[in-house]
Order: sequence, then structure tokens, then C-alpha cells
Amino acid sequence: MENFIIIPFTVGLIYLTLVLIYRFVKWVRGLSKLDKLRLVQSFKIRRMLRSLKEVFYEGLLHRKIFRKNPVLGYMHMSLAFGWFLLIVLGHIEVMAARRSLLVPFYLPVFFRYFETGTTFFASGIFSFLMDFFLLIVLSGVALAMLKRFKKQLFGMKKTTRLKTGDRMALTSLWLIFPLRLLAEGMSAELYGNGSFLTSSVGHIIGSFSSESTNLVLWTAYSCALGFFFAALPNSRYMHIPTEVLLIFVRNAGIRLKKRNNTYTDIQVFSCSRCGLCLDNCQMAAAGINHAQSVYILKNIRNNNLTDEQLFNCLLCGKCEVDCPVGINTIDLRITQRIESTLQYNSSYNYLEDLPARKASTIYFAGCMTHLTPGIIASMKTLFHMAGENVWFMDEEKAPCCGRPLMLAGQHDAASKLIVNNTRKILGSGAKTLVVSCPICYKVFREDYELGNVEVLFHAEYISRLIREQIILPGKTTTRIVYHDPCELGRGMGMFEPPREVLRATGKVIPVKNEKQMAHCCGGSLGNLKISQQERAVLRNQAVKDYQQYLPDVLATACPLCKKTFARHRGIEVMDIAEIVVSSIRKSAEVVPVKASVKEEAFAEELV
Ligand code: SF4
Ligand code: SF4
Ligand code: SF4
Repeated sequence: MENFIIIPFTVGLIYLTLVLIYRFVKWVRGLSKLDKLRLVQSFKIRRMLRSLKEVFYEGLLHRKIFRKNPVLGYMHMSLAFGWFLLIVLGHIEVMAARRSLLVPFYLPVFFRYFETGTTFFASGIFSFLMDFFLLIVLSGVALAMLKRFKKQLFGMKKTTRLKTGDRMALTSLWLIFPLRLLAEGMSAELYGNGSFLTSSVGHIIGSFSSESTNLVLWTAYSCALGFFFAALPNSRYMHIPTEVLLIFVRNAGIRLKKRNNTYTDIQVFSCSRCGLCLDNCQMAAAGINHAQSVYILKNIRNNNLTDEQLFNCLLCGKCEVDCPVGINTIDLRITQRIESTLQYNSSYNYLEDLPARKASTIYFAGCMTHLTPGIIASMKTLFHMAGENVWFMDEEKAPCCGRPLMLAGQHDAASKLIVNNTRKILGSGAKTLVVSCPICYKVFREDYELGNVEVLFHAEYISRLIREQIILPGKTTTRIVYHDPCELGRGMGMFEPPREVLRATGKVIPVKNEKQMAHCCGGSLGNLKISQQERAVLRNQAVKDYQQYLPDVLATACPLCKKTFARHRGIEVMDIAEIVVSSIRKSAEVVPVKASVKEEAFAEELV
């Protein structure tokens, strides 16, 4: 009869299990044939162990959050890992007590209610450990409550807003463990089956001890559990089971597509709304506080994403670096932009099929570089010094690389440009394609199929010329702060080649916000909603930070960053190609450098 206390827990658990089975099956069935095959092929011991290890480190220990903020990491770990240990140890305890591997599913949860005093092998140790892990989980609950009211103590500037489903789940989650403590404390007082924590609590509430109070407390505990399980699928806590699936699917090599599919859902439901992606988003400095990734993910899930939010993002990638779950916030947003602009895709049928020119090297400057002629002039100089047979492919009448259209979600239109450009590049017979714009570089590397044509960013090309002593820049004491362009640094992982080039010309000063943590200049093509004033706020914020290091020059490797920073007027801004050419000119004027024959001839022309 007293078994009725397990009913709320059991009903909630059955509901949760059915919803999870339904969703997981739907998500996996919705993957493309190739992705399903990838998933099946990933069920090999080594890959499975890799995924399980990741589930352990990230899903239970929350290692990435720990590295960012130990207190926040402890909070997440104590709740997830502590509860996990209570479940595992609870099962082992019941198996030891019953001397059987098969035990009723509910017994580990309500063990101290049903087992009122039996002793068995190591029962004292089990009681101690169960109390200890309960204490750890309770410390996590206390920290979670504190975080809601005092987020600054956890090093966070912002936390996310809760919707009703989340509030219900959160309230029941916060109640589960205090109720468990009270229920186990009461049983410990009545039957003496507790340890240091539950027995102490039992003594404190001993004046209320009775069988009926005990029954009420255990029933309340069961209700809190059942309620949490029932609320979980429609709350942020759905991320707990979904993240496990995400890890397996991602490790199988499955990636986001240009259109929504069920992998999009898996990513969206994996967001824990931890809010870590809010802190470093520069848009807050410009007063934009509604379009950050966590809100985009939430609104995709709730089907109420607006274009205003979707297109109001610099696509700088900082949130992707900060996300402990590894959600592809940038690709996810671009996919939503593609979905949102399907009906607007332009035709581009007018593209002329201009003939390709035969050359061993192609230079594609890109629209932004055309707006910064100093970079083009420097690149021409360097090609000339290297004696390259270069075809300046987009010097006149050539289409864009396609990336800006992609950032705007115009995927079909971008594809037409890509096909047109690809035909020309392959038709030229070139072995190398050099670009001086990171936006172009990303699309040429990721979306073009150029066979054996080597795509080089100008930093790579220039550093190769320096290493091979084809050009000899003169090293000076000029203090250089290098700004990592978002698309090149976080977007393509290229941090070293530009620095290598700059080190050959001056003193590169390391700064706090660099590489993965570099600022966005504010000029991003990715944001179609931000105003010029808001862009200026972001630019000024970045410049102010760099100015602390007293640079003689702010270097960058992107025409758009250069153009954006140049508007500030309080700092000299140069592209790395311009810096190298200027340093060659200066050293040719001052020092008789040990130049190559080609370079000597060219230096004469310059002086
Ligand atoms: S996107 Fe990542 S960092 Fe942002 S709230 Fe979701 S899980 Fe946290
Ligand atoms: S990509 Fe950059 S601007 Fe956009 S939400 Fe993330 S951090 Fe903010
Ligand atoms: S990428 Fe490319 S096309 Fe193209 S701008 Fe740079 S910028 Fe324009």
C-alpha cells in the first residue's frame, strides 16, 4: 500500500523516457542517408570510448566551464556528477543489500524509506558515501540559488531570462535534494539508517518525527522528482540528454548543413542556456542585448525567431569559442538566415562567362580590398619582387567571392558566383590562388572545389617569401599591435602567419584580447541590422583597448578591419602587406640589405 509514494516519480520517469525515445528516434531518422551511415560507422570501440570520455568530462565534470570559472564549474559539476554518483552508488547499495543484480527500478531512489534497519555488507560505508554525495549535490543547489541572485560572484555579467517551463523545472530541481535530505533525515531518526548528514538533520527535526510525517516527506520528494521529469522535455534541461546525443553525432563527423535538418534540432536542444556566450559579446557595448546566440537558440526552439534578431550579429565567433557545449553558433545562424531569405535569392543569370587568363598564380583581391587600394598596390609590389606570373582575376568586371551573400543567407546566389569563379580559376591553369581578404579566404577554402589549386592567404604567401629570402624586410623597433580579424583568427584558426610576417619588420606586442579572444572591429559584413553609430561604439572600444599598449601602428590582415579602424583617426592602421612593403622601402633607403637579385632590381625602381 505504501508503494503509492513511488507513483509521481514513476509517472514522471515513464513520460520522460517515452518523450526521449520519440525525439531521439525522430532526430536520428531525420538525418541524411550519408549522415546515418556515418553514425552507424562510428559505433566502433575506439570512437565510442572517445565519445563516452567526452560525455564524462563535459556532460558530468563540465571541464570547459571549470577552466573558465572554477566556482561556476563546481556548481555544474556538483549537480551533474554528484547526482550521477548518487544514482550509481544507490544502485550498487541496493544490489548489495538484496544480494541480487536485479532490483526494482525505484528502490535505489527510495531505499531508506523501504529498508528500515537491515544491515548488510559495508552498509555503514554506503550510508556515509550516500550522505557525502548528497552533501555535494546540495552545495551545488545552494550555489545555483545564489547565482540567480548574485551572478557577479560567479564572474558573470548576465544570466538568461527564464520562461515558465524553465521556472517550473528549476523550482522542482531545487526542491528535489532538500526534500530528499529531509525525508532521509526523518527515516534516519525513526529507523537509524542514516549517516553523518541525514542523522544530524534527523536529530534537528526529531520533534516532528512520526510515520506519517515520514510518509509526507517521501511523497513530496517523489512529487518533486516526477514533476522535474515531466517538465524536463519542455525546459532548458532537455539539454542534459540531448548533449549526450550531440557528442556522439558530432564525433561521427556529422556537421550542420546549409538547410535545417534534425541535426539543427540536436544543436538547438543542447543549449543549456548557461549564458556564458553573453559575457564576451561586444554587441552589448552598443546596447544590443536581444540578439546574442543564447536568445537565437531559444527562439529557434520556440519558433519565434525574428529577422531583427537573426541579422543583428557580427558573426565574430566569440560566442562559439565560449560555448562549453560546442554549439556551432555561427553556422547555425547562417543556416537560419538561408531559411529566412529563401524567397529573396537573386538570379545572377547575368554573370558573364569571361575567359580565364593563363597564369601560374592568381590574385583575387575581393571587393573590400578594392576599397583599400594601398593593399592592392602592396600586393602588386610583392608579386613583382617575387617575379610571379600573376593574373589579377578581379581587377575589373569580376563577381564577388560569394561569402558576403552567404553571411546574408543568400546561399543559392552565392553558389552561382562560386560556380562562375571556379570555372575561371580552373581554366587559368594556376597552381596558386592568393587572397588578401579573410572573408574571401574562408569561402575559397571551405566552399570552393579547386582541385590541386593551393589557396594561400597573403600572410602565408608573404611569410613564405620572407623564409625563402625572396624579400628582405628590415626589422625595426616599431611597436606593432596586431588585430586578429574574426574570419581569419576564430574563423579559420590562422594566428601565426601574420605575426610571423610582422616579427620580421618590428616588435609585435602581445595583448590581452588577442587570438581566440580578439575583438571584432565592428565593421563585420555579417551584421545587417547594426547602425553606423553602434559600429563606431564597437570600433572605439577595440581601439581604446589596443591604445593601452602604446603601439606605433595597429596592424591587421583584413581590408574591412583596416577600413573600419582607419575611421578612428587616433591610431595609424596598416595591413601586413603594406607594413612589409614599407619596411622593404625603408631598408632599401637606409641599409644596403642582402637582397636577392630580383629584389635589388625592384628596390631600385622603388627608391
Ligand atoms: S550557446 Fe552555449 S554558451 Fe550560450 S547559453 Fe547555449 S550552451 Fe551556454
Ligand atoms: S557571433 Fe559575436 S556578435 Fe554574434 S552573438 Fe556571437 S559574440 Fe555576439
Ligand atoms: S570577400 Fe570577399 S568579396 Fe569578397 S569582399 Fe572580401 S571581401 Fe568582398
